[in-house]
Amino acid sequence: MSQTPTRADFDHYMVPNYAPQKAVPVRGEGSRLWDQEGREYIDFAGGIAVNGLGHCHPVLVEALTAQANKLWHLSNVYTNEPALALARSLVERTFADKVYLCSSGGEANEAALKLARRWAHDQHGEHKHRIVSFSQSFHGRTFFTVSVGGQPKYSQGFGPVPGGIVHGQFNDLDSVRNLIDDDTCAVMVEPMQGEGGIIPADPEFLQGLRDLCDAFDALLIFDEVQTGAGRTGSLYAYQQYGVTPDILTSAKSLGGGFPVGAMLTTDRVAPAMAIGTHGSTYGGNPLASAVALAAVEYIDTPEVLEGIKRRHDLFREHLEAINRQHGVFREIRGMGLLIGAEMAPAYEGRAKDILPLALEEGLMALIAGPNVLRMAPSLVIPEADVAEGMARLERAVARLVAGQ
Ligand SMILES: *Cc1c(COP(=O)(O)O)cnc(C)c1O
Repeated sequence: MSQTPTRADFDHYMVPNYAPQKAVPVRGEGSRLWDQEGREYIDFAGGIAVNGLGHCHPVLVEALTAQANKLWHLSNVYTNEPALALARSLVERTFADKVYLCSSGGEANEAALKLARRWAHDQHGEHKHRIVSFSQSFHGRTFFTVSVGGQPKYSQGFGPVPGGIVHGQFNDLDSVRNLIDDDTCAVMVEPMQGEGGIIPADPEFLQGLRDLCDAFDALLIFDEVQTGAGRTGSLYAYQQYGVTPDILTSAKSLGGGFPVGAMLTTDRVAPAMAIGTHGSTYGGNPLASAVALAAVEYIDTPEVLEGIKRRHDLFREHLEAINRQHGVFREIRGMGLLIGAEMAPAYEGRAKDILPLALEEGLMALIAGPNVLRMAPSLVIPEADVAEGMARLERAVARLVAGQ
């Protein structure tokens, strides 16, 4: 008879690249989770900005199970209805004319970077291959995306990194002016840095990047893997900024917990991804596409998007109240339901110490670097769960302050 797996099995059987918390959740519903011991948690982490509709949302369960009884996989030798419907829905809701489907954010960015290089190669020649990205940015864990990402700890120690990549300073247009030239094929940027600390781009910065890209015929790539699929209160953050990229990548909340990624682009750029240039066995998988289509159609409605803005204000009010009591935060920032609370100087680097205390109090949260407490809850989290989660967070913060 097989034994129930435990947290100890992780250390026995899994490659040691993660250090998961002690609790092993077994069931989720909405914004609540239960672990093996039956302890209940409120979820402000949302699977790292993935569970956009919480856990086991009936609309997604229905989409998944209906598709599970019809067709699971075909490969790209055939197309399928859910993939076509998802692509069409994304095109109708955004700037894009064409969509490439894959299974994760890293893969979507890998496709975006390869497309940009290939487009520039075909339009201008071999020399136009330089990529500008930003310090502290995060674009995934494939070797190309860690190299473009601005956190050297993720790309060091794996041998020679791909060349032709330079990093400017986020929200500093002059730093980009010094790097961009006729050899630049693309500028890749997150409209709000996620892993880098929940730092929204200044509108003038994104507009300035657009203008520089136009001046040098480089492609502007928005990595909306974390900010997309409703997270910031519009389907994609670019729609609020009013700055349109040439390529946009989406994943995380797009699948609501089912692995899926998408790269969106225009008819000007898409032809560079000609037959045979790129691919993925699972890209456009019917199960993933059916769930993502249901998620997009559910999220991209005035009710849900307005609800995200209302919940943003609610999160802010609660965090400010905690801060009035304990003075632990220097700044509370973010957009929609991607919210960061940067620690005050007296608590420098201590955001990570809140997480185990919060877990003991029955709350799951995240950090974005050691100094920023991050929250990325369900986009439809009930207000009662926000209030109860914040009461638990307050207790965790009080214990941090008391030195427990
Ligand atoms: C999470 C994330 C990625 C990587 O997505 P994966 O699905 O883990 O490959 C890329 N870019 C941003 C901005 C992210 O937040």
